[in-house]
Amino acid sequence: MNILLLGSGGREHALAWKLAQSPTIGQFYALPGNPGIAEFADVVEGIPLSAHDTIVKWCQEHTIDLVVVGPEAPLVAGLVDRLAAAGILAFGPTAAAARLEGSKLFTKELCKANDIPTAAFGRFTSTAEAAAYIRGQGAPIVVKADGLMAGKGVVVALTVEEAVDAVEQVFAGGGTEVLIEEFMEGEEASLFALVDGETVVAFGSAQDHKRAYDGDLGPNTGGMGAYSPAPVLTPELERRAIEEILIPTARAMAKAGTPYRGVLYAGLMLTTSGPKLVEYNCRFGDPECQVLMPRFAGDLVEVLHATAAGRLAEVTPQWSPVSAMTVVYASRGYPGPHQIGSPIGGLGEASALEGVTVFQAGTRMKGGTLVSNGGRVLNVTATGTTLADARSRAYAAIARIDWPDGFFRSDIGWRALGTAD
Ligand code: ATP
Repeated sequence: MNILLLGSGGREHALAWKLAQSPTIGQFYALPGNPGIAEFADVVEGIPLSAHDTIVKWCQEHTIDLVVVGPEAPLVAGLVDRLAAAGILAFGPTAAAARLEGSKLFTKELCKANDIPTAAFGRFTSTAEAAAYIRGQGAPIVVKADGLMAGKGVVVALTVEEAVDAVEQVFAGGGTEVLIEEFMEGEEASLFALVDGETVVAFGSAQDHKRAYDGDLGPNTGGMGAYSPAPVLTPELERRAIEEILIPTARAMAKAGTPYRGVLYAGLMLTTSGPKLVEYNCRFGDPECQVLMPRFAGDLVEVLHATAAGRLAEVTPQWSPVSAMTVVYASRGYPGPHQIGSPIGGLGEASALEGVTVFQAGTRMKGGTLVSNGGRVLNVTATGTTLADARSRAYAAIARIDWPDGFFRSDIGWRALGTAD
């Protein structure tokens, strides 16, 4: 089976690593890829991810059997619709189905109409109405702007004043509608499921670390580390989340004529009354994918193809009984301004440790040397019999990497393991 993988991050390196292990893979291409992905796939140069027509034509010329879409932007922009119209199978939802990530309002209305557990909410088009609602509800309370905001559209306000300020900022910034949500208390966990329109199959859990520095301090990032499984998401809570949240969502999408196909990533709040939906994402998480792939023991080409083709009922994903942890090695200064182009050494030494794989994100080759080329640069990933083993191995691997311009969090896994050994 000929595959084109779209994307260039650590998530896509992990997918490429696993896809390449499939006995059924034929020609394997990646666009735009990165130096890590290039070890497994032929990198396609010169086509931007936004050039949908060119991508469709390229797939036809190269008899691609399955396109695996890593990031959300091409999904929300309708690349899968364009590929489908040309008869090319893709793993990932259509634009209409990707609204589950692209529009918070769409998802909240869907939850409301289908009794899916989530925070109670109100939606407002003026500061005055929103402020009156906030005063009626009290704080803490959550203010959200609609649309893909790269994690910057949400304010968890501890006071009424802070919430009203946040509303003003949404409208001042060009927003036309604001969402005010009840504050949900609990621990957060991510649950992944493959969905082929009808069938929903759980596909692992994880917890991530959004803040830049130890102790969950500092600015929000794309994610500084993750581990899987999430021990807090017990089998019973996972079953409830699948039955009460993901299955009703898939049914509602199918009933509306916009069936969801791909991976559905549910951000959950585990409250005292059970799991509640915080948000959906319509693709694998990054860095969560990096901890799912080393645990997945099946044929990734087979399950992704079955998902895209509506044959998921025929597949039972197999998992290794191990835990996995990823520690992100980022450029000093990230998520703020940072230098790129500094040499990175020791990846061979790090990867030689048992159970360790280093997935690359913002890297590039410069005259035969690997150099940094972005904010999040390396995903140092390890498996172990226990999460504590995985953590020891991941940090032992980090110690072998020679990159003075990088930094990492030293407390990945603290929710599950505590902060001290
Ligand atoms: P990201 O993509 O970074 O997760 P986002 O802009 O899609 O961010 P959400 O996931 O909806 O936004 O919210 C970001 C974070 O804010 C959540 O992970 C959670 O910690 C917190 N949060 C959001 N909604 C609520 C809520 N109703 N109650 C409590 N916390 C919330």
